[in-house]
Amino acid sequence: MTLYDDIAYLKGVGPSKAKILASELDIHTLADLLDYLPFRYVDRSVISTVASLSEDESFVVLRGMVNNMQTVATGKFRERLTVDFHDATGSLQLVWFAGTKWVRERLKPNVEYLVMGHPTLFNGQWQISHPELEAYSYVDEGARHPLMPVYGTTEKMKQHGLGAKALARLTETLVDNLPSIPENLPQEILAHFRLMGRHEAMTSIHYPDSREQLDRARTRLKFEELFFLQLDYQYAHLQRSSRSQGRIFAHVGDHFNQFYNQLPFPLTGAQKRVVREIREDLRSGRQMNRLVQGDVGSGKTLVALMCMLLAVDNGSQACLMAPTEILATQHFYTFRRMLDGVGVRVELLTGSLKASEKKRIKKQLADGDINLLIGTHALIEDNVVFRDLGLVVIDEQHRFGVEQRSKLWNKSLVPPHILVMTATPIPRTLAMTLYGDLDCSIIDELPPGRHPVRTFHRLECNRPLVFSFLKKEIDAGRQVYIVYPLIEESEKIDLKNLQDGLEMVQSYFPRPQYQTSMVHGRLTAEEKAFEMDRFKQGLTHIMVATTVIEVGVDVPNATVMVIENAERFGLSQLHQLRGRVGRGADQAYCILMTKDNLSYTSQERIRTMCSTTDGFQIAEADLRLRGPGDIQGLQQSGALDLRLASIVDDEPLVKATRDTVHDLLAADPTLSRYPLLQQHIAHSKNKMLWSKIS
Ligand code: ADP
Ligand code: MG
Repeated sequence: MTLYDDIAYLKGVGPSKAKILASELDIHTLADLLDYLPFRYVDRSVISTVASLSEDESFVVLRGMVNNMQTVATGKFRERLTVDFHDATGSLQLVWFAGTKWVRERLKPNVEYLVMGHPTLFNGQWQISHPELEAYSYVDEGARHPLMPVYGTTEKMKQHGLGAKALARLTETLVDNLPSIPENLPQEILAHFRLMGRHEAMTSIHYPDSREQLDRARTRLKFEELFFLQLDYQYAHLQRSSRSQGRIFAHVGDHFNQFYNQLPFPLTGAQKRVVREIREDLRSGRQMNRLVQGDVGSGKTLVALMCMLLAVDNGSQACLMAPTEILATQHFYTFRRMLDGVGVRVELLTGSLKASEKKRIKKQLADGDINLLIGTHALIEDNVVFRDLGLVVIDEQHRFGVEQRSKLWNKSLVPPHILVMTATPIPRTLAMTLYGDLDCSIIDELPPGRHPVRTFHRLECNRPLVFSFLKKEIDAGRQVYIVYPLIEESEKIDLKNLQDGLEMVQSYFPRPQYQTSMVHGRLTAEEKAFEMDRFKQGLTHIMVATTVIEVGVDVPNATVMVIENAERFGLSQLHQLRGRVGRGADQAYCILMTKDNLSYTSQERIRTMCSTTDGFQIAEADLRLRGPGDIQGLQQSGALDLRLASIVDDEPLVKATRDTVHDLLAADPTLSRYPLLQQHIAHSKNKMLWSKIS
């Protein structure tokens, strides 16, 4: 028997069950079955009793019998099924809200069951909803093993005699007859971390002799999983950086120095460090591909501008791409102002520019008369030709698609250096996993004198108080944002929502004393810019908007951000929105308005927002609440298809594997001493991963 034999030849399977295993679980070979891991174990040695239940227990196994089955209709097509369960010490209630028919047909009195589930106290009585039940005899059969594996199954599998019990029998047969599984980690690493061998780990993850052995098996397999992920990333990184040459910007010239000397404030320590990191890249002779993370207001744009000046000092051009016209325009005016007297030509290229203007800019760009170009995706159209593009800065990376970025790549003979800036922090553990391959800088310090935004949670019934607070701020000369969520199903409803909001706001804040702007997705770029501009100039006091203002808009005089239906927003979105205020010297506030019946995760999101302004903490909470699969931009990266390891809970292992792989590649970049690892690289599906997420 070899691991790659057809599963149909395993005793107890046969052609028809093999077909079900293939269609339901994608199991075709013995190796596939071995890879199908239990999601839980039933520990016969710790059967609890009803009398000893306590609220600390998240999961218990009880042994006893059922009676008194009752069905209560709870709606037209819905019912609740309750059953009394008792053991020698007491009784409790089992409850089902769904799948009641199936349960009703199978549960029998006078049969001893093992009941497994999460006990809760309800009106003083213990209750387990949607428990799992096994006839006790089944577990008894497995007495050979103290911990019985429980496997996930589907309805269809159960119908074909492949329930959890049957699957466990199959894996038992498999493990009893298993050919030896070759080791895939280097011996020195096994020894150093005292890891269990691969064969033992794969067998004891199914049938452990003890909890302790199970833990060691899991650790070993998690290590292996993270190790190979790191190997893929770091090997790809090494390949890329040793292959792709980049232009050398070694010279620090007049433009940079002039600008630096006329800055009205010193750089923060974090800004200095990141500028230094980038300077190292720019004179290394290799093409830079660096991500700069930093909270809104941490001074990323300034860092980018300084790097662009370095490019100019070395005879190159640089461009900055922003996700929206509003932002591009804003960057343009900021750059113009800051570069006053520095002698650098900056231009703005956006889609809404007049044709004659576009033509002029393109010509001057090709001639090299323009040093810095700011724009939206219009920058990467094929007919935009630079004389010598040396550096590309991309602001707010998640708005740019992969192809758009690769288009930039083709804009010059030697690829330009690329700097990506994002205010959506990626949790440290995730960055460690993903950016084993990318270079990553973090600006983790705000310029001095900023007060953190104070954040409050308010309900609809508090609205009068909230509005009178806004009034006070406005009367003191400040400005206010009120943001509504997009309800994506229909633009019409969104607009209606927004208009209702506007009317309500205007009834509290009557004209002409109070002026209100409204910005939403249906407006043209010009109309948006017009409204934003009025607000920016202080002509309007209140900006009522959908999330179009999410990214990068800078109005230092705005001190309050009210977010309506805040429960509808994700954490990172809330954090981005809050970043719109607190940009000036005054104390700023963020008010999260919600309905009063919040789900658990909504409550947690709101609580997180009220308790911290640190983008990294927020990103970590986001990761915990949503799971890594939902983190923006990372879905397709494949790094998150981890079977056993968790980027959230296994931080020490993530670190250990990252460092181990790093040291290993530093000592032996071609893996010449590790033929097995070479083989893995040759077959790896993650080879091109970096190009997807850079
Ligand atoms: P980000 O792009 O990270 O949101 P910006 O570069 O736009 O941040 O900076 C936000 C504001 O802080 C700008 O008005 C900028 O001029 C100012 N700023 C940047 N760096 C500093 C610093 N070191 N000290 C004081 N103010 C700074
Ligand atoms: Mg910015």
